Amino acid sequence: MIDIEATLYQKTKAIIDRYGFSFKKNFGQNFLIDQRVLDKIIAAGDIQADDVVLEIGPGIGTLTQAIARKAKTVIAVEIDRTLIPLLEEVLSDFDNIRLINDDILKVDIKALSEEYGRPLKVISNLPYYITTPVIMNILEKEAPVSSIVVMIQKEVAMRMQAAPGTKDYGSLSVVTAYFADCYLAANVPRNCFIPRPNVDSAVISLKPYDKKPYDTADREGFFKFVKAAFSMRRKTLVNCIGSSGDFDLTKEEFSEILKKAGYDERIRGEALSLPDFHRIFELM
Ligand code: SAM
Repeated sequence: MIDIEATLYQKTKAIIDRYGFSFKKNFGQNFLIDQRVLDKIIAAGDIQADDVVLEIGPGIGTLTQAIARKAKTVIAVEIDRTLIPLLEEVLSDFDNIRLINDDILKVDIKALSEEYGRPLKVISNLPYYITTPVIMNILEKEAPVSSIVVMIQKEVAMRMQAAPGTKDYGSLSVVTAYFADCYLAANVPRNCFIPRPNVDSAVISLKPYDKKPYDTADREGFFKFVKAAFSMRRKTLVNCIGSSGDFDLTKEEFSEILKKAGYDERIRGEALSLPDFHRIFELM
């Protein structure tokens, strides 16, 4: 008996062989071959019949087809031009998929959203090498995106959704929490892809806030402060900020601010949540 996983693997192999496709490492090409993981991504994507979904890197169109069965439109952006003829054929049964041969980092997401008259949902098995720039570009530029469901390296996913005091907690956790509600939708072992990557993956779901609960007028300064707070892992916040050079404050002055905000002067950055950082920064 052939199980479902074997079928997706066999389908993938058959397409790759038929087109004589060879994987390009520099494009982070690791194709998903596990049907259960595919189902989890689709479930986390919560696709509605009138949704316009932006898929980054359709590969050979596995996830693309699953999205297209539920969404109104799929905009699939693929950088590898050798995949385009293959995708055109594999996806020819669908009339709701728009293929764009481009680098996602050059695509104007705002213009796309305006063209379709609605915010986009992003769903993707992201190429590892651009995980952080893609996600941060969307969040920091406040692109019109209502949700992001992406497969990324497990290590990065753990850091994004980590809580204060845990080993994965760091500036990426605080920056992520600043922009979006974030949860881990699935853990994905490395054997769910061909070729098999050297790291495990996870599916993360991000819902950018309409109105950020802890916003500040000086975001650049705030993120500098958060990064400086984690710059020396075992040092107190006072030492990190006092020796960073980025802030016009002596250790004594910063200690005073901490006290005023109601914190112990020996506190470390890793113990502080986004609301804590926000509160201290507003007094600086
Ligand atoms: N979606 C497919 C799947 O799940 O099997 C493929 C995922 S694979 C991890 C990443 C895909 O992104 C590849 O098809 C790769 O060519 C494409 N890609 C890499 N860099 C890209 C970029 N800068 N812009 C758009 N697509 C890119």
